[in-house]
Amino acid sequence: MKKHRMLIGGQWVEPASGAWFESVNPFTAAPWALVPRGGKDDVDRAVAAAKAAFYDGEWRKLTATARGALLRRLGDIIAAEAPALAEIETTDNGKLIAEMRGQLNYVPQWFHYFGGLADKIEGRVIPIDKPGVFNFTREEPLGVVAAITPWNSPLLLAAWKLAPALAAGNTVVWKPSEFSSVSALVFGELFERAGFPPGVVNIVTGYGNEVGEPLITHGDVAKIAFTGGDRTGEHVYQLAARGIKRITLELGGKSANIVFDDADLDEAVKGVVSGIFAATGQTCIAGSRALIHRPIHEKFVERLLALARTARMGNPLDAATQVGPITTRPQYEKVLDYIRIAKDEGAVCRLGGTPANRPECGSGWFVEPTIFTGVQPGMRIAQEEVFGPVLSIIPFDTEEEAVRIANGTVYGLAAGVWTTSIRRALTMSERLEAGTVWVNTYRAVSYMSPFGGYKRSGIGRESGIEAIREYLQTKSVWIDIAGNAPNPFVMR
Ligand code: NDP
Repeated sequence: MKKHRMLIGGQWVEPASGAWFESVNPFTAAPWALVPRGGKDDVDRAVAAAKAAFYDGEWRKLTATARGALLRRLGDIIAAEAPALAEIETTDNGKLIAEMRGQLNYVPQWFHYFGGLADKIEGRVIPIDKPGVFNFTREEPLGVVAAITPWNSPLLLAAWKLAPALAAGNTVVWKPSEFSSVSALVFGELFERAGFPPGVVNIVTGYGNEVGEPLITHGDVAKIAFTGGDRTGEHVYQLAARGIKRITLELGGKSANIVFDDADLDEAVKGVVSGIFAATGQTCIAGSRALIHRPIHEKFVERLLALARTARMGNPLDAATQVGPITTRPQYEKVLDYIRIAKDEGAVCRLGGTPANRPECGSGWFVEPTIFTGVQPGMRIAQEEVFGPVLSIIPFDTEEEAVRIANGTVYGLAAGVWTTSIRRALTMSERLEAGTVWVNTYRAVSYMSPFGGYKRSGIGRESGIEAIREYLQTKSVWIDIAGNAPNPFVMR
């Protein structure tokens, strides 16, 4: 098993604790790599390196154009390494190789896009209302950014943070998930190859409480960019509040995929399946509630069951596999718990509802694609994020009712609408309380389009021009050009 090291100040270092932990392959349930167990001392070293790089190093002296060029060069290097990185991610988190290849081939775009944006960060000249004064704004970086990422799409979600943070001129300390740190550590080598000065990007691996908390509360960290569950997010927010730190939170969801009776049903069936069974449901944007217009409810459910039954489970490294394992054992148990809860609540299990004991599933943590009907909007299975291949189907009669059910959770990350009516497409996309609304498609993201949550699904936006603002602060500069000193005892 390869014993990895962490990246601090441009050096590959061992953890101060002298301890490593095993990273487990979810398909074989066997350990395959050793990850450094970082702690507060490592965080202190990493933040000191990032602070030095921000204030004293070459990084600060680079022009914005040169900074952008570094990001674009990194994008090119990632593109060349994408197949190898995808294989590491699949081995580490069990997501399909087809999905991870797609993600890794797309990750360079964040570095190209934000690299291009780096020298377009402009202030404004304000035609100020005070005579004889020149007033303008500067958009400045924040300093050291802490990036904390989950296990489900490790490098994609890191790119969403690192690319705008670096384009804006910040430096970064990144803590990947304990369950998917290997790709982060291999990815770390690419910064050096691209020519980033030492200390601009640092990677400290380890557990949330041992690395995440000292990082968030460190006095020299200016901002936290976090993706994870909403309970952890709440805790992270409280810790950050103590230091009045800036924060971006990308949290969970309970997204509704709403199918009207005027929809193209072939497309809608595929859309609902892709919303919940792609990525084995381990995606924040999972369309885990399908709201089906009552006139087509039974017909739709039958077609959905027919398609879901064909899902091929198995080794995620096999390109033909469609549903892979659950990434971690605790998550596997959580998914099975929710299935039990749904059954106890009286939901009707129409498909799956058990661990998958198929020979092709090896000794991995597999759960059968599961579909419940008879779900009431208030049931826990319809309110809480499962993060697994479990779909709740809820019928509705009117547009009004669909909106009420869709908006009736604490979350607001995404929603899908399936209709051929342009009026419905527009009114639903206005009325749904979600950071992303897809109409006649689902699970599309782009480096160009802002992504984030309403309500308990998060704060701030990643991707698109909006994202760069999350890593900047505005300074207002006043210059007297008239030379007439005003009354010193009165506000000017
Ligand atoms: P967690 O919230 O458990 O963990 C996310 C990250 O936070 C991990 O790096 C974790 O470290 C770290 N962490 C855990 N505890 C603390 C702590 N006390 N202080 C600081 N950091 C901590 O999420 P998961 O990894 O389980 O990922 C799944 C969740 O992520 C889902 O709820 C999903 O909805 C959400 N998600 C949201 C997305 C979005 O963009 N909105 C996208 C993808 C996922 P460690 O691994 O060591 O516990």
